[in-house]
Amino acid sequence: MDNDSSDLVMKMIHARSGQLANGDPVSPPIVTTAKYKLSGTPDTPYTYGRDINPTVEATEAAIGALEQAPVVAFPSGMAAITAALMATAKAGDRVLVPSDGYYVTRVLLEEILSGHDISFDALPTREMASADFSPYAVVWLETPSNPGLDLCSIRSISETAQASGALVVVDNTTLTPLLQRPLDLGADMVVSSDTKAMAGHSDCLYGHVATRDEALFQKVWKWRKVSGAIPDPFASFLVHRGLMTLELRLQRMCETAASLAEQLDRHTAIQALKYPGVGFVLGLTFESETVAERFIVDCPVIFASTSFGGVHTSAERRARWGDDVADGFVRLSVGCEPTEALIKAIGATLETL
Ligand code: PLP
Repeated sequence: MDNDSSDLVMKMIHARSGQLANGDPVSPPIVTTAKYKLSGTPDTPYTYGRDINPTVEATEAAIGALEQAPVVAFPSGMAAITAALMATAKAGDRVLVPSDGYYVTRVLLEEILSGHDISFDALPTREMASADFSPYAVVWLETPSNPGLDLCSIRSISETAQASGALVVVDNTTLTPLLQRPLDLGADMVVSSDTKAMAGHSDCLYGHVATRDEALFQKVWKWRKVSGAIPDPFASFLVHRGLMTLELRLQRMCETAASLAEQLDRHTAIQALKYPGVGFVLGLTFESETVAERFIVDCPVIFASTSFGGVHTSAERRARWGDDVADGFVRLSVGCEPTEALIKAIGATLETL
């Protein structure tokens, strides 16, 4: 964790406590209300539950301290992605997305937004840097990509894409703002599925959009208000609670992932190992679907499930969703279990394959 990140964590943890008066609760109250007292000409932002909620605001303030930007929270990562696309692309526009990134973003473009005259092309993350960006209104990046874990340079692609008139949006789910801050690297907007490491306990869905561009922020805010995609106050509370330990969790998860990558690299049961050198997600390729499934099911410290970023180490074979990866490719999300015990248990299962 660098000095900048430590400073941001301090600001996040104290985003709320700094404003409290004697007698105020330390954690944000879960405010469940559809409406607020409002008589006469509205003289308060607290008008209606679809527009604004104090628990949602507390979580947005905590995330905003990490992003160093205004944040709009959403009930899932996909709700945030939809909002980001609605704010940046209009009828007649073309969007460039990673072919190896989160597949539902492409489904949204292909099956829904195409009907609204927004078209798209898909390129592997590794080829993004050499693309001609001139046909595109939006360049969408995901680095490391999920599940392929390939990388591209947000800084240099932002410079080139913006010079040809495109807006750059980064899905930063796999790293979180503690490990990578796309807005500092020149991106116009960042989106995240906070269902993953940001909330961290696999007990709720959440997402956010952050941007330092006031006009884009207003578009995202308006989209949430009129589409009704405001998150639930209870989920907001859970995300806020999870964020308070984000740095600690990431430290454990990333350190374990780095040690595990070093040890798995030499293991004969694994044909190929993908580890981007940062983060807590690894890609392991086994010789077949059967061996991969055996690894997932037999290993007592792996929770067989989709998704990633939770406290439990979890894994799944991504080909089961149609991702363009080998049948034996397993995405392993390293959790918060004690490092040595986890590596030992994974090593023991590998020996049985
Ligand atoms: N972006 C990435 C990179 C993801 O991996 C996911 C979910 O797996 C999403 C977005 C969508 O998030 P959610 O499931 O919270 O809608």
